[in-house]
Amino acid sequence: MDFSFSQLSLPLQRALRDMGFEKPTPIQKEAIPLALKGYDLLGQAATGTGKTAAFGIPIVEGSDKGEGTTALIMTPTRELALQVKEQLYLLSKYKGLKVYSFYGGTSVQRDLELLWKTTPNVVVGTPGRMKDLMMRGLFNFDNLRYFVLDEADRMLDMGFIEDIEWIISQLPKNRQNLFFSATIDEKVEELAKRHLRKDYKFVKVITEELKPKIEERLIRLSSSGQKLSELEKILKDHLLEKVIVFVKTKKDAKDIAEELKRRGFNVVSLHGDMTQRQRENSLRLFREGKVRIVVATDVASRGLDIKGVSLVVNYHIPEDPEVYIHRIGRTGRIGNYGKAYSLVSPEDTKALWRIKKLKEQNAKA
Ligand code: AMP
Repeated sequence: MDFSFSQLSLPLQRALRDMGFEKPTPIQKEAIPLALKGYDLLGQAATGTGKTAAFGIPIVEGSDKGEGTTALIMTPTRELALQVKEQLYLLSKYKGLKVYSFYGGTSVQRDLELLWKTTPNVVVGTPGRMKDLMMRGLFNFDNLRYFVLDEADRMLDMGFIEDIEWIISQLPKNRQNLFFSATIDEKVEELAKRHLRKDYKFVKVITEELKPKIEERLIRLSSSGQKLSELEKILKDHLLEKVIVFVKTKKDAKDIAEELKRRGFNVVSLHGDMTQRQRENSLRLFREGKVRIVVATDVASRGLDIKGVSLVVNYHIPEDPEVYIHRIGRTGRIGNYGKAYSLVSPEDTKALWRIKKLKEQNAKA
């Protein structure tokens, strides 16, 4: 059976047209018809494949604004919560669903006031804040029919499992579960088996078309002291492109961004010492193209879908090879062409070998 958007209700078709979505991506083709039939799903899909709409479309199709809260979507990071909320809001524009996000780093008081005044139809949240608000009895999940766990692998990596288990224990049993994860290892599988219904469906789509096309280049330097001037050269060679520069520590992010500013570049940083508001502000400037260079640490940039990034620079080579794969995945989204340059000094050799090994394993899988 071939799924197309024309099989959806008119309000959704209109919204999709407004969003410029003409045809479903492969993961949407697989996941949406199964989810509409009511199956639980375990979807293997990374950010950039269209996974948000893969669970968002069935939720919007199956929810009405008079029904109270019908869907809870959990994401590991605040930025992802914001992105998911934004997309669900756009999808449900013509159904008028109320979509709200709740995450740490913002005022609990504001959440309290909001929930006093209104009942969201779709709740998007990160584990800590959601648990906090749920313990205060601020949600009514009696009509909840959809539970989404987005980026399940990251949730586990980031140590959210206990909060997630607690949250799930508070939900009505008769609900549809949609779990998505970029990687499926034993831990994710175990989590899925514990919570998905027995007849759940596994969907995985990796097509050539969707594989990011990324040109990876190693720039070998005889000492780490040469990195800054090499970076400057690269940035001058890519004057019109959006660039993310990944560095190791918060201090590096601050220092390197400052130094680049001194050298005349328009740049912002993204790191864990910034408040939520500062980070959102940096991201907004970058998204809107007002600033084209971001100097970021890994944690601060997890899960972000930043459009049109054509170059990722690894100023420091990450110790963990998975981090390298995630970083370069920021470019070359949905079939676009991207570049990933790594500045390699002699002390990076070991880390480089670990990356090579992981890439070989992934190629075989
Ligand atoms: P996601 O994997 O959900 O983070 O989505 C990645 C990007 O693809 C987002 O910017 C979406 O707006 C976009 N997108 C999702 N589905 C489609 C589609 N069917 N057609 C065009 N763009 C899409």
